[in-house]
Amino acid sequence: MNSAKTQEKNPAQVTLLGAGPGDPELITVRGLNRLRAAEVLIYDDLAGDELPDEAPAGCEKIYVGKRSGKHNRPQAEINALILEKARQGKRVVRLKGGDVFVFGRGGEEIEALAAAGIGFEVVPGITSALAAGAAAHIPLTHRDLASSLVFVTGHEATKPGDPGVPWEQYAKLKATLCLYMGTVRLPIIAGRLITGGLPRDTPAAAVIRAGHPDMRIESFDLGRAADGELCGRVVSPAIVIIGDVARYAGGVPTAR
Ligand code: SAH
Repeated sequence: MNSAKTQEKNPAQVTLLGAGPGDPELITVRGLNRLRAAEVLIYDDLAGDELPDEAPAGCEKIYVGKRSGKHNRPQAEINALILEKARQGKRVVRLKGGDVFVFGRGGEEIEALAAAGIGFEVVPGITSALAAGAAAHIPLTHRDLASSLVFVTGHEATKPGDPGVPWEQYAKLKATLCLYMGTVRLPIIAGRLITGGLPRDTPAAAVIRAGHPDMRIESFDLGRAADGELCGRVVSPAIVIIGDVARYAGGVPTAR
């Protein structure tokens, strides 16, 4: 498959597909084409509910998200399901919110596919941090304010002896930090960033349910987050944007 055209005609057996933030207009053209050609659709909690309806009528749709009763369907079970359906010769689409390779466990799924010798392709999606920046009019990088961008999880896989995210060091980067899964531990993370040297008045904004009609934006500063003032207001799913660019959430500055 060495050209996009060939790929359109002959898609891989399994497509790992990023849905984007849930707004049905924010999936790629290729992604929508794959969805409309799916024979089996395996999907989890997308930010929106409309995309699975794009699969054709005869498509087998399997929901593996958190609302399925089990808190978290084990990844091994999902991998096994993908392999089982692919081995039946079905064209499988594995649909996930945002992008499959940004906190999406896509890496584990392609490892299983590669080990089984099953052909796959990856179709990228708009990850939540990008959707949040766009929706809140926050430029994630800016020539004058932030020259790097960090996507970081607030909910780390913790193994004994694992030092985890070096928050104090991130404070020194002068980057825009985009915090995924960070609502619960926000006070701790904000406190550690302050310990690492970020001023308490560093601007921050939480974009809650980016890309949905009920999206909310909370603007605050790091000190208030560290004091726990945002508890109950910054709720999942949210992207917390920390850094000077976050002040754009209060309105685009017209003169600086
Ligand atoms: N693969 C996804 C991320 C999955 S991890 C992506 O690329 O976006 C789940 C986290 O994504 C949530 O805890 C939240 O931080 C973020 N998220 C997902 N949907 C969101 C939305 N509509 N608005 C804001 N954040 C969202």
